[in-house]
Amino acid sequence: MTAAKTPQEGPLTSGPLAAEPPKQLSARSIAHGAEELLLREVPVLDLGFVQPIDYMGNDFDVVQAARVSYGPSTRKVHNDRGLLRYLMRHRHTTPFEMCEVKFRCKMPIFVARQWIRHRTANVNEMSLRYTEAPDEFYLPALENISLQSTDNKQGREAVDVDADVRGEVVRLMKANQDETYAIYQRLAGELGIARELARSVLPVSIYTQWIWKIDLHNLLHFLSLRLDPHAQLEIRAYAEVMADFTKAWVPLCWEAFEDYRRESLHLSRLEILALRRLLAGDDEEAAIEASGLKGREHREFAAKLARLRGEDEA
Ligand SMILES: Cc1cc2nc3c(=O)[nH]c(=O)nc-3n(C[C@H](O)[C@H](O)[C@H](O)COP(=O)(O)OP(=O)(O)OC[C@H]3O[C@@H](n4cnc5c(N)ncnc54)[C@H](O)[C@@H]3O)c2cc1C
Repeated sequence: MTAAKTPQEGPLTSGPLAAEPPKQLSARSIAHGAEELLLREVPVLDLGFVQPIDYMGNDFDVVQAARVSYGPSTRKVHNDRGLLRYLMRHRHTTPFEMCEVKFRCKMPIFVARQWIRHRTANVNEMSLRYTEAPDEFYLPALENISLQSTDNKQGREAVDVDADVRGEVVRLMKANQDETYAIYQRLAGELGIARELARSVLPVSIYTQWIWKIDLHNLLHFLSLRLDPHAQLEIRAYAEVMADFTKAWVPLCWEAFEDYRRESLHLSRLEILALRRLLAGDDEEAAIEASGLKGREHREFAAKLARLRGEDEA
């Protein structure tokens, strides 16, 4: 693996894998929005980046794949956008698998651990058995240092943390990183211990890199989970950059995804019962009581009602 580059946004920056100019014109279909962003490293967090390095297909390829299964008569019934929206609405997923994208990404290992759980991607990661670990560790921005949430075991509390405490957090993290990196260098360098063993002292804030390839259907699934406010802030930052690329690459698929998946609302059977009573004129408390929604389910339904009433936008 080649050495890490300092990420930059803006003009095309050729990563080590992007240096080769095309040898011949391609006859394959392209997406103009994707071409504009291809090979650009977009910085994420303090030292990471996402760089789209290749893609296959566009909105039309999804439509074309669907037409193979539905036959030529489909053309009369749907225009391209209408067909795409129909596919997304009815979870007809395989046409979306006809498009693929490949990203080069650099992220802290604790982000990579969450990311790797998405099994439907193909991954090649930098190996610390082959290469010496770079002295590159994640330090959170001061404004992202929060207390442990009291009602969400996986989350951060939305309260202000004292500036002195934030400063202390960064100092402690940095001290730990410097100390462990010095131990790593002593082990792998001066003592000549195998890199595969020496790396075990490194913290999960150290940066790694990989090439990540996935089809559009599974990318949208990844984005629906990792753009969600419940996902950890650090992985969300990567998902947001990938979402920007996807929107530019397949704008019609993205629009359908937002309308029918991301911005849609799922209702359970009990929630439908409660909503039915509300529409029949029951007050909210009585409707929820009668439906059997309790505890967390009750709170989640109340949040959905607030969304339906537009209160979350107020
Ligand atoms: C907010 C959040 C919190 C999380 N917290 C935790 C946690 O505390 N602990 C933890 O361990 N994980 C946690 N996860 C990870 C989560 O459980 C999933 O592993 C991860 O989101 C990947 O989702 P996936 O399996 O749907 O995706 P993918 O692996 O990309 O799979 C996509 C889809 O393909 C199908 N699929 C893939 N592989 C198989 C298979 N072998 N068998 C059957 N179907 C398959 C499934 O339908 C799946 O939904 C969390 C994820 C999120 C977003």
